[in-house]
Amino acid sequence: MIKENISRVKHRIEQVCGKVKTDPDKVTLVCVTKGRTVAQILEAVSLGLKHIGESRVQEALEKYSQISGVTWHMIGHLQSNKVKEAVKIFDLIHSVDSVSLAQEINKQALKINKVQGILLEIKTSGEASKSGFALQDLSEVWSEIKKLKNVRIKGLMTIAPIVSDVEAARPYFSELRQLRDKLNSEWLLSMGMSDDFEVAIAEGADIIRLGRAIFSRQ
Ligand SMILES: *Cc1c(COP(=O)(O)O)cnc(C)c1O
Repeated sequence: MIKENISRVKHRIEQVCGKVKTDPDKVTLVCVTKGRTVAQILEAVSLGLKHIGESRVQEALEKYSQISGVTWHMIGHLQSNKVKEAVKIFDLIHSVDSVSLAQEINKQALKINKVQGILLEIKTSGEASKSGFALQDLSEVWSEIKKLKNVRIKGLMTIAPIVSDVEAARPYFSELRQLRDKLNSEWLLSMGMSDDFEVAIAEGADIIRLGRAIFSRQ
């Protein structure tokens, strides 16, 4: 099933890239493995998926030693008391949602002599319950985080609200892209999940994060 799902996903990525004239090889597919077993993950890796996304540090640590040759992405909310472990295993932390978290990452990365790649999570939808920076705060946040020597901002991440019609997610993605274009054109955009990745790619996603589309019966 994983094999069929991956072929289907790749086909869909190629189709939308063809439509909007972007190179499908430039879209990084992060395979979201929270709640999946090591066996399932190893199957996905053997089928060519080399980017693994986890949302809890503890769960990632348990899997980390059993899965090699992949790039690890932290996509869930990161608590400051987990940062010390997180910087040891994650190549990219997508979910930086406060300046104090970035400062803690900087502190722990310095201890292991690492420059930690991060994305700033943006609350595009303005929903009070969700974590992430508000759009209007971003310039100020950026100038604070820029000072940190052991943290490097690589881009922006957002989670679109769950909507019944995927088209309704489009404005959130386009908002993130406009923000990126305004602040730093080099930054990557991590946006799009199983239900909305095609719209996200059409709006310029560089990184998509898929769980169910890879592991669940479609
Ligand atoms: C779980 C999760 C995903 C993957 O969601 P699916 O709907 O299973 O594709 C992507 N991003 C984040 C931040 C997640 O927590």
